[in-house]
Amino acid sequence: MMMITRKTALLMMSACLTAALAGCGQKESGSSAAPAATPAASAAASPVSTASPAASPAAAGSHGAHWSYTGDTGPSHWGEMGAENAACANGTEQSPIDIDLAKAKVNQTLEDIQTVYKPTAFTVVNNGHTVQANAADSSNVLRIQGKDYNLVQFHFHLPSEHEFNGKSFDMELHLVHKNAAGELAVLGVMLKGGKEQAALAELWSKMPAGENMEGVKLEKPVDLAALLPADKASFRYNGSLTTPPCSQSVKWTVLEQPVEVSPAQIEAFRKLFPNNARPVQELKGRTVETDKDK
Ligand SMILES: [Zn+2]
Repeated sequence: MMMITRKTALLMMSACLTAALAGCGQKESGSSAAPAATPAASAAASPVSTASPAASPAAAGSHGAHWSYTGDTGPSHWGEMGAENAACANGTEQSPIDIDLAKAKVNQTLEDIQTVYKPTAFTVVNNGHTVQANAADSSNVLRIQGKDYNLVQFHFHLPSEHEFNGKSFDMELHLVHKNAAGELAVLGVMLKGGKEQAALAELWSKMPAGENMEGVKLEKPVDLAALLPADKASFRYNGSLTTPPCSQSVKWTVLEQPVEVSPAQIEAFRKLFPNNARPVQELKGRTVETDKDK
């Protein structure tokens, strides 16, 4: 379990200051997609800023580094932790969700998603909520219905955040993309115990054990094309970031086919993050579509 002591809170704040507008603490967010909080609102709501003499309006920005996955700062409290996080409690299109496979609506007009991925340099960071790999360039492209989104970063959850028929998987990979207009599209891939995932071997060997926003540059490029399943049948729905501030208007694509990672890889991640999954959220009238042929 991650204990947020005052010391770690200060460290997190300085990391956030260093990261400036780089979406600190917002895993789904590429960089500046999250709405900025007013300094007054977040200063009033943030225990970090009132406890720390180092707090400043800039430090008390929208990063919300004090949220967690358990207890008083866990998912059921995110919406109370500052006006900027209101969507976590009140949002009507929140993620993740439980996908009822039989109820997913077949949409014949949906084209298959296309991933134009190639070996790319990444830097691995530990943002206190997950292990995240930031792309050195924007050359990886996810194409959805003729629209191109560029990969910004990818990161992991344990157990999976999305569920299929009420069942979660060992882990979930989120590939976060953004288009020129700043719109986010996240590709979710279920990970299950099996054979070792070679495409993640170096990344796993260099995961920072503690909070580290500077990160570690990987020596070898990561080939995400090798990581994805050949069958890219998917579920699509409109959702949100799964971490504060839970911003909506995120286009979600969740692949039906899981990929394998080894039990040792799962356990290595579990040592750092024993549980970093937000519970599933209500559909609230949304439809999940699928490009599957039935
Ligand atoms: Zn995520």
